Amino acid sequence: MSEYKLTVGLEIHVELETKTKMFCGCLNEPFESAPNTNVCPVCYGLPGALPLINKEAVKMVIRLGRAINATIPEKTQWERKNYFYPDLPKGYQISQSVAPLIQGGVITINGVDHHLDHAHLEEDAGKLMHAPDKSHSMVNYNRAGVPLLEIVTKPDFHSAEDVKAFCQELQRIMRSLKISSADMEKGRMRCEANISVKKVEELNPGELRSLTKVLGTKVEVKNINSFRGIERAVKYEFDRQYRALENGDKLFQETRTWNDDQGKTISMRVKETGADYRYFPEPDLPVVDLSSFVDEGTHLLPDEQRKMLAKLEIHNEAIQAIIDKDGFEMVMELGRENAQLAREAAKVFLAVPEFSQLPKDQQKQLIEKKEELGLTSTRTKEIIIEALKSGTEISKLLEQSDSIDLAAIVDQVITDFPKEVAQYKDGKEVLFNFLVGQVMAKTKGQANIAQVRELLQNQLS
Ligand SMILES: [Zn+2]
Repeated sequence: MSEYKLTVGLEIHVELETKTKMFCGCLNEPFESAPNTNVCPVCYGLPGALPLINKEAVKMVIRLGRAINATIPEKTQWERKNYFYPDLPKGYQISQSVAPLIQGGVITINGVDHHLDHAHLEEDAGKLMHAPDKSHSMVNYNRAGVPLLEIVTKPDFHSAEDVKAFCQELQRIMRSLKISSADMEKGRMRCEANISVKKVEELNPGELRSLTKVLGTKVEVKNINSFRGIERAVKYEFDRQYRALENGDKLFQETRTWNDDQGKTISMRVKETGADYRYFPEPDLPVVDLSSFVDEGTHLLPDEQRKMLAKLEIHNEAIQAIIDKDGFEMVMELGRENAQLAREAAKVFLAVPEFSQLPKDQQKQLIEKKEELGLTSTRTKEIIIEALKSGTEISKLLEQSDSIDLAAIVDQVITDFPKEVAQYKDGKEVLFNFLVGQVMAKTKGQANIAQVRELLQNQLS
């Protein structure tokens, strides 16, 4: 099978989570609001309605472009892409074809570079819903006009695992740069894969030198809506195309849909000629000079964040979790003072994510006192939640923890459980842990367990 080479290029749509839509003031809430409530004449494309560019969306795309070392053109513009579909009220989509906002760009995963061809900023369409008995369909235009970034990669992938890893990393990037949650289940990120398989013997030497040229018949697979689905769809297509080639069957340039339940792709249409969208410049929008767009947002990629956390000697397994849970900035902030502090903060944060909401001085107090007081994780969580809820200073809450009269509680437990104490003294040693548990329960988990054991031991001997 190794003589067959898989090549995949990706087209990934990500909805930008701006407050309002791309070309009007309607709320960017595709599914949270009642159907067809976030709409206006611009969304509907009514005659005379004029679109306005959402600067926030443009800034987000520039932020991404800078982070991945892409070329941002000096000027950009939008075109009309004409086609008919019921979820597209205007009969055209405002898109970009001449000067996309992002040109080129590289995303590195585990030391391997993956190249973007370009990414352009357009608007999303509405959403069709079909009645189960297929008697009628309904359309919700709340999503029509939501800013949508289409990211087109080079045919740079040669394994299903790499494709999946790239999509996962792209989601992390969107989250780190505060562009989108890129949630696939909610349709905030949607993937299409162009998949081809070619027998390697058929390649000429020039093609062999450049793996990006290893292309066979391009099959486009749509409607993939999970990371696992991407991996499965690519594997399935490799298998299907490889078998066809082995049997001497002809492969068609076609569009197929991924059916996750059946675990296979199904042909939708065979492409005879490319669709003609009759692009022309959007007459209602100006050419935009991008030099006036200054974006102060963070440009750090997850890969750079990983490296910075590794420098603080934070555990490898913890690093990705910190980034995924949005704890990077908090940990780095403490890390600027002291790496040990940052490592402790990372541990507390992963156990209790609310920790990052505490003011910095209180985070430090908690970390410094935690060890000394022997706080359990349950108790630490209680203190953090209590501090956030009541606004009480951490130091006050810690004092309360410190002031428990542990000796009295130990005495109380010994009085309360005479039978168990007697049995323990007779040699039934497992009961020691039972007594420790009783003390811990009485302190609601606030006591230092080592201290409890010591006190109990002393009292019982
Ligand atoms: Zn609108």
